[in-house]
Order: sequence, then C-alpha cells, then structure tokens
Amino acid sequence: MYVLLMGPPGAGKGTQAEKLVEEFKVSHISTGDMFRAAVKQGSELGKEAKRYMDAGGLVPDVVTIGIVREGLSKPECSKGFILDGFPRTEEQAIALDGILEGLGIKLTGVINVFVSDDELVNRVTGRRICKACGATYHIKFNHTKVEGICDKCGGNLYQRDDDKEEAVKNRLKAYHSQTEPLIEYYKKQGIYKEITGMQAIDKVYADVKASLTENS
Ligand code: ADP
Ligand code: AMP
Repeated sequence: MYVLLMGPPGAGKGTQAEKLVEEFKVSHISTGDMFRAAVKQGSELGKEAKRYMDAGGLVPDVVTIGIVREGLSKPECSKGFILDGFPRTEEQAIALDGILEGLGIKLTGVINVFVSDDELVNRVTGRRICKACGATYHIKFNHTKVEGICDKCGGNLYQRDDDKEEAVKNRLKAYHSQTEPLIEYYKKQGIYKEITGMQAIDKVYADVKASLTENS
C-alpha cells in the first residue's frame, strides 16, 4: 500500500492516516508532523519551517522535498506508506515521481478528501492534538472522554499555533492556489480518486478503504 492522501488543511487526512496505519501497519509520512517535530526539537530546520508555518504559508520546496526523500528512503517505507500533506506544489509532485522511480515504487492510489471551505474552518479551529502522542481530536466532532486529556495516552491536548483563524485563511489560500492544481496532475496519471470528507469519520474511512480496493 503506497498511498497519497490529498486534500485541504483540516479535511481529515491525518485522522484517516492514523486509522490506515493502525489497521495495515504501514508507515505514516506527514510533512506537517515532521516540521512540528523539528520545531519542538528547536533544530535549524524547525526554526526555518516555523517562520512559514506560523503565517500559514508553505515551507520552501527544496527543504520539504529533502525531508520527504530522507523519510521515504527508510527501509520500513518499502513495506508501505501513507503520505499525508505532500506534495503540495507541482515542483514537489515532480520530485516525488523521481524519488519513487528511484526506489522502484509505484503509487497504489491518490485519494483526495473533499471538504468545503466553511466546514474546514470549523474543523481546523476546533482541532486539538495530544502533546505526548500526537493523536488528533476535535472539540465537537471527535472529543476526548475527559476534556483536554488524550484518550489514548493521558497526555495533555493543545491547539496548534497555525490553527488560529488568521493563519487558517492563508493556509486555505495556499491550498487553492498551489495544491489544488495537483488534482489535474494525478488525474492525468490515472490514479486519482476523490471521496467526500463531509461525513462521519468512520464513513470516510470506509470510502477510503473502498477506493483502495478498487485500485488494486
Ligand atoms: P488534516 O490532517 O487534513 O489537516 P485532521 O485529520 O487533523 O485534518 O482533521 C482536522 C480536524 O477535523 C480534527 O480536529 C479532526 O478531529 C476533525 N475531523 C477529521 N475528520 C472529520 C470528519 N469526518 N468529521 C468531523 N470532524 C473530522
Ligand atoms: P499540515 O500539518 O499538513 O497542516 O502542515 C502544517 C504546515 O506545515 C503547513 O501549513 C506548511 O507551513 C507546512 N507544510 C507541511 N507540509 C508541507 C509541504 N508539503 N510543503 C510545504 N509546506 C508544508
């Protein structure tokens, strides 16, 4: 299973990736998670990425392509991966084709999770993440049993800096201008599937799995 999960910020890519990883034991490569980990460590990469992330912009291609190349080259990825949040620009998509060709891997599918802009704002502003294990929740749509505490590990939940309204608007702009055009890129490759993310998490997951079976 070599899957690319596409969609605007807040569509539910991370939520669906968590489920696929749990069920199919494949690797999860999320560029957003990688950048957040670098910010937490205070590394040079983290310092550079944070400048773009806080404003809701995209981290430069050369930096992003570098970390994905490194991630995908790890031996565990040869058994399968879910790529989430990458590619976001045409340059990244072209680079990904080259990386995969070098590794002898063909994508099983590209799944785009569609959600309208109004709904995305609700999702992103209500998102909460576990500081300890990174699990994703929502204050209304997918809340924890005890407020502010992760169901899975007991860690404390936090709100991402870039999930505040101003940054969210910029992220949506970046999505529509730079990432949405990739739909055509993958349609041309004949591996593109679209599902609606505007339904309950488990229903979205059923559609994700169905579209993967169709491709195999
Ligand atoms: P992405 O990785 O695409 O940015 P997330 O998976 O983090 O998106 O989801 C964004 C927010 O929306 C999270 O708070 C998550 O709990 C919530 N969410 C995800 N899928 C759904 C859904 N199908 N219905 C309602 N809320 C959802
Ligand atoms: P995400 O967790 O996918 O919403 O990503 C959070 C932020 O990380 C984005 O708003 C960007 O600033 C940065 N980022 C993540 N993935 C990429 C990418 N493929 N290209 C450029 N920037 C990215």
